[in-house]
Amino acid sequence: MQQGSELQGRVALVTGASSGIGRASAIALAAAGAQVVVNHRAAGDSQARAAAVVEEIQRSGGQAVTAAADISREDHVDLLFKAVIAHYGRLDILINNAGIEQPAPIADMTLADWQRVIDVNLTGHFLCARAAAKQFTLNPANPARQGLATGNIIFISSVHEVIPWAFQVNYAASKGGIAMLMKSLAQELGPAKVRVNSIAPGAIRTPINQPAWDTPDSLANLLKLIPYGRIGEPEDVARAAVWLASDASDYVTGTTLFVDGGMTLYPEFRGAG
Ligand code: NAD
Repeated sequence: MQQGSELQGRVALVTGASSGIGRASAIALAAAGAQVVVNHRAAGDSQARAAAVVEEIQRSGGQAVTAAADISREDHVDLLFKAVIAHYGRLDILINNAGIEQPAPIADMTLADWQRVIDVNLTGHFLCARAAAKQFTLNPANPARQGLATGNIIFISSVHEVIPWAFQVNYAASKGGIAMLMKSLAQELGPAKVRVNSIAPGAIRTPINQPAWDTPDSLANLLKLIPYGRIGEPEDVARAAVWLASDASDYVTGTTLFVDGGMTLYPEFRGAG
């Protein structure tokens, strides 16, 4: 990863950063000069994978630490933000990334299937955004940033904030909710010079959607939905996150940046309709 300085002096928290888009974003933000907190779940091998992300950042000369927390739990989020401040003393950028899928036909979707996805993908993002918004007002003043954003929140949404998704009504509802959470928050926090935006990835090669790309047949089917003709890589999203987090996008707030190879362009209408 090329080293830059556009985020020098800024502290960034990336949730769900032990894999996929979160991992790539943590690495890219650190390469752009940010001090990064790599959040991960306490469960499974997430701790070891998060530690590997931190090692990778440090090997490249960047700064990062791990912090365990289930972002769907208010008590965990409180402790997570305390850990960020204890370590770095401030927070400038939140990448609200952690997310899950739990698909089922509607008749078989249990309340627990519904609730867990809403808890992580929507309520968890609310809890972290609320804590970040509070922290931005408590940050030590930085005279070098006069007139620029005092805080920056980026939601990792999905093309499913606009594309309906049969058998994943919980996931699509959570991402549709993120669209209005993001816009309402951007409207509310604009006067405090906090920028709030979303990135809506299309199909990105990560563990969350592995069955959609890990055989030649499934990949060929997936590519029919992508006019640009390739699956996305986590780094495609990470580069967009660095831009949205940087002053290069200072006048951008309340918008969703689709990073989807054209998936939202109704490709099935090409030559039809
Ligand atoms: P991923 O499974 O690699 O990453 C999700 C991460 O979130 C994992 O590290 C997981 O441990 C973490 N996580 C899950 N629940 C958590 C919790 N309660 N607390 C803390 N961390 C938790 O998949 P990904 O594709 O990198 O997903 C990242 C985000 O991108 C998600 O919000 C997902 O909905 C979104 N997204 C992904 C795609 C895609 O094609 N991969 C497309 C659109 C949107």
